[in-house]
Formats: sequence, structure tokens, C-alpha cells
Amino acid sequence: MIISMRPHATKEEIDHVCERIGEFGYKVHSIQGEQRVVIGVVGTGDVTACLESLEATPGVESAVRISAPYKFVSREFKKERTSMRINGVEIGGDEFVVMAGPCSVESEKQIMQTAEGVVAAGAKLLRGGAFKPRTSPYDFQGLELEGLKLLRKAKQATGLGIITEIMSDRDVDMVAEYADVMQVGARNMQNFALLKSLGACGRPVLLKRGMSSTVKELLMSAEYVVAHGNSNVILCERGIRTFETVTRNTCDIAAIPALQELTHLPIVLDPSHATGKRSLVPPLSRAGVAIGADGLLLEVHPCPEKAVSDGAQSLTLQGFRDMMRELKPYIELWKQARLAATAVGV
Ligand code: PEP
Ligand code: MN
Repeated sequence: MIISMRPHATKEEIDHVCERIGEFGYKVHSIQGEQRVVIGVVGTGDVTACLESLEATPGVESAVRISAPYKFVSREFKKERTSMRINGVEIGGDEFVVMAGPCSVESEKQIMQTAEGVVAAGAKLLRGGAFKPRTSPYDFQGLELEGLKLLRKAKQATGLGIITEIMSDRDVDMVAEYADVMQVGARNMQNFALLKSLGACGRPVLLKRGMSSTVKELLMSAEYVVAHGNSNVILCERGIRTFETVTRNTCDIAAIPALQELTHLPIVLDPSHATGKRSLVPPLSRAGVAIGADGLLLEVHPCPEKAVSDGAQSLTLQGFRDMMRELKPYIELWKQARLAATAVGV
């Protein structure tokens, strides 16, 4: 159950509601929000009696039963789309947001050149991994703190907000100091210790779908972050593992509208990891716009053949510019569709 208190409900009213919840045998799982407090309730008991009683309790605006196992992130809990502002850019709203940059931060020259190139072409956030999850322990593991510092330099030069990967709960405070968005990679989608610690990181989280994870498992992972206090979560479809070998992963494009039916959170597409192949990135990006994603997360490198990771799927700066130009009419249509949807409250 989710109990929404009226705005400015008093502490006494909130305490009283929590007491009543206990009397019905339920447990208060979390209390979120300041002006408008939302209480998450778990356990088993007489739901109908509890809901009826709480609805009549002072300070309560609504008490609803959420049947989905993912509660706070479900459309049942919140009908309207969630949007958030990141370094002056709104995601989940009426703007299509492109986040672009290299797979790994490699050097000052590389990140500055990329940042300047992508901002000029219309990117709104700069991506770049400072901590890299690599299949082999012998591959480049990232510049770590040095990489974060370079990302900050690129932000100062271009004004672009930074999205970068966080791999361990131990590094949350350090990465949060430099990142505007904390990226959780596919391999860490079910790193529950990390997800819990991101509940208190004070930054939006971009959660990538695990390569063998279902849509519902992705939503359960998002629920971890939200239930631990952080409602700013962006979901990312980046392809899943199938028997297909022509592409690096199989892009589950239908997951995007499927997710939109199930959750109010913004959803972006990563066509780079979804294909593994530069030539397939522009057509898949068009598909992402057309299907109504909230944005794209793309890999771009000034010299992909020299990239230390994911060169084959990275666009060149020229390729990125061309793609952004080609996407323009699609993004215009996207905006019309989004404004029409907003007008009817979806
Ligand atoms: C990345 O964004 O570079 C990355 C490692 O992606 P994923 O976690 O989707 O494999
Ligand atoms: Mn990569």
C-alpha cells in the first residue's frame, strides 16, 4: 500500500498514521518527501479494512493498494510521467535528450575534443566512464578519480552535465561529487548494495537493463533505489543477450513502450551497446525517437580506431553530427506527439 499524506500534514498526523498501520499488522517500509509525505507500507493483513480506516484518518489524502511488486515506480502509483532537471536539462518532459561521449575517459585531449564536438552537435549531457566494468581483468579498467576530474574539466569548458558509471557502493560519495547522473551498468543492475546506497546519493540514477534481465527485474531494481529514498531514476534499454550474433546484443525495442505502460519513470535507449556496430547506431537511434523514448545514450569518440574500449560501436564526431542532423525531423514529430500526450495527461 502507498499512503499519500496531504501537503503540509503535521508530524503528529504522520506518526498517528504509522501507528494505525502497525495496529493492522503492517510495517512502514519508507517515508519519503518533505512537503508531501508518502508512506510505503508492506506486509500482510486485512487490506480493505486498513485502506478504509486510513482514508478516514486525519492528514491522509489517499491510500491505495498497489498490486505490482514494484510499487513506487509503477503507473498504478503515479499516472503522470516523471521528469527531472539535470544541470538545466529536463528529461522525461517535452525535450528529447541526447547524452553522448566516449565509452571510457582516456585523456584530457580525448574528452575535451569529444565534449566540444558533441555539444556543438546538440548533445545535452556528456557521458564517459571513469570506472569501467570489463569482462577481462587485463583490459583497461578506467582512469578512476583522474577520469572524474577530466570530466569536470569538460563540464567547465562546455556546460554539459556529466553522466558516468558507478560500480561500487564504496565509491558513491566520490562519484556523486563529479557526476550529474550516476550510471549503473548492465552488469550491476542487481548489485543490491549499490542500488540501496544510491537511494541517498542525492543525484539522479540512470539504471541500465541487465543483459539477461527481464523488464520486471529492471523495474524491481529501480524500486530498490526509489524505496531507499531517491525517486529520480531513469531507465535504459541497452539490448539483451540472445542467440543472435550479428549484433552484440539484441535490442528489445518493444521494451520501451512496454515499460511506459508499467512505469512513470523516463526511459532512454542506448543504441551503441544494443548493436555493437557503428553503422547500426543511426537507424536504431531513429527507432528510439519514433517509439517514444525520452532520449538516447550514445558512444562517440574522436578516433574510434584508437579507442581503448568499444571503438567498433562508437560514432566519429562527424558521424554524430550527421546523425543529429538526420534525427531532427524525427525529433520534431516526437515533440508533437509528446505535447499531445501531455495535453491528455499521459
Ligand atoms: C557503458 O555504458 O560503457 C557500458 C559499460 O554499458 P553497459 O553497462 O550497458 O554494458
Ligand atoms: Mn561502452
